[in-house]
Amino acid sequence: MNDVVLTGDRPTGPLHLGHYFGSLANRVRLQDAYPMYVLIADYQVITDRDTPGEIRRHTTELLLDYLAIGIDPARVTIFQHSAIPELNQLLLPFLSLVSVAELRRNPTVKDEIAHSSQRAVSGLMFTYPVHQAADILFCKGTLVPVGRDQLPHVEVTRLVARRFNERYGEVFPLPEAMMGEQPLLKGLDGGKMSKSRGNAIALSATEDETAVLIRKARTDSERLITFDEEHRPGVANLLTLAGLCLGRPPRELADEIGDGGAATLKRLTTEAVNEFLRPIRKRRAEFTAADVQRILTEGNAKARERAVLTLDEVRAAMGF
Ligand code: ATP
Ligand code: MG
Repeated sequence: MNDVVLTGDRPTGPLHLGHYFGSLANRVRLQDAYPMYVLIADYQVITDRDTPGEIRRHTTELLLDYLAIGIDPARVTIFQHSAIPELNQLLLPFLSLVSVAELRRNPTVKDEIAHSSQRAVSGLMFTYPVHQAADILFCKGTLVPVGRDQLPHVEVTRLVARRFNERYGEVFPLPEAMMGEQPLLKGLDGGKMSKSRGNAIALSATEDETAVLIRKARTDSERLITFDEEHRPGVANLLTLAGLCLGRPPRELADEIGDGGAATLKRLTTEAVNEFLRPIRKRRAEFTAADVQRILTEGNAKARERAVLTLDEVRAAMGF
């Protein structure tokens, strides 16, 4: 089978190191080998908030983040939900394939509801994993580079594909999730590093911003630095972050710091992160707003062509 890669992000704020080590690094690696679609999931922004907010700015910034880390728009189709009506229309038949009980059980949705600032939980919050099935299946995606929080959603997609094929004949492949080196990077407060939780180091952060964020991270007063995720989560988290950026095991860094304490650990982590982000920051500055607009227009047109074909196939299979 010829693999097709599909993945994406919500335009809710700048991409961060969690994205990089959870998903983005895999995308850069896979873009040479397979056709790849990258979705700017703009309709998903309103799952956990009332309005899309500064959606245009966030969309531009997200695309610049992609370019900065080395996603090549000549090879990769970058597109938006809101530009592809045929993709969104797949949601209707797909919703008929899952039960309300299955939607309610999704552990990632439960976690996101717990962190949502909305007073009431919207219908979209419960149904967006099925929308993600449409995202993956509109291009017959088979490989999905994501972080750990997305595994239940890829399972929903497999369920939708399997049930569609059973009821209407073989149309969809069953996709596989592909997790990165660090499927769940923690933020500076110990929870999942997230764009919307104020605990992230953005790929676009300046050197000074990075230093301030790391200085504020919680550690402990023990001089001897050890890698102990259970008892010293704050220290372990910084060692993990530094280790990922340096490509070295966190334990080795702990041994090297020895009894240098939290101050040495923070200095080392700040240098490691800044060194890692330097070329990314530099590339980011090479692109203009006009580049972003052109890339989106082209990507949307290509994705839409693909979606039209799939929707036709779905309607025919269903006998419409
Ligand atoms: P938001 O808080 O707005 O939901 P987010 O930081 O969770 O933002 P998403 O756009 O929801 O980012 O997720 C995009 C991709 O990045 C998904 O594949 C997700 O699994 C992955 N990802 C997000 N956060 C992390 C993390 N902390 N570690 C590893 N992967 C992550
Ligand atoms: Mg998220």
